[in-house]
Amino acid sequence: MKKVCRTCERELNITSFHFTKKSKDGHEHHCKDCRRTKSQAYYKKNAEKYHAYRRTDAYKKSTARAARAHREKHPERDSAWNAVTVAIRKGDLVSRPCACGEEETQAHHPDYSKPLEVMWVCRRCHHNIHMRERMAT
Ligand SMILES: [Zn+2]
Ligand SMILES: [Zn+2]
Ligand SMILES: [Zn+2]
Repeated sequence: MKKVCRTCERELNITSFHFTKKSKDGHEHHCKDCRRTKSQAYYKKNAEKYHAYRRTDAYKKSTARAARAHREKHPERDSAWNAVTVAIRKGDLVSRPCACGEEETQAHHPDYSKPLEVMWVCRRCHHNIHMRERMAT
C-alpha cells in the first residue's frame, strides 16, 4: 500500500507513515521524515526561546529570588553545607565512593540538624533519595 505525504508530496510505502487512530487509513498524513523535521524545528524554536529567556534580567531575578526564598525557608541546610565544606577543607571529612560504586560523590544529609553526619552518594543516587523523600511526604 502506498500513500502520498501531504508535506513533501512523495509517494511512499505505508510503512513510512506513523500509525494514528485519528486518520481513516490508520496512518498520519505526514511521512516519518517530515514528522521528524517538523518536530526538530519545533524543538529548535522552543530551545531558542528558552535560551533567549534565560538571558533576560527577569529570568535572572526570578532564579535569584527563588534561591533566596529557598535559603530563607531552609536555613539549616545552608549551615549544614557550610559545616561540610569547612570540614572537608580541614580534612575532618573525607568523601567516600557511593554504594553503587560511583567514585564521584556528594554529601547528603539525612538529618540537617547533624551537619557532619553525612552520606556519600553519587549524583544519581542522591537524586533518587530526594525523589523518594518527596514522594513520602
Ligand atoms: Zn513527507
Ligand atoms: Zn541530599
Ligand atoms: Zn550511586
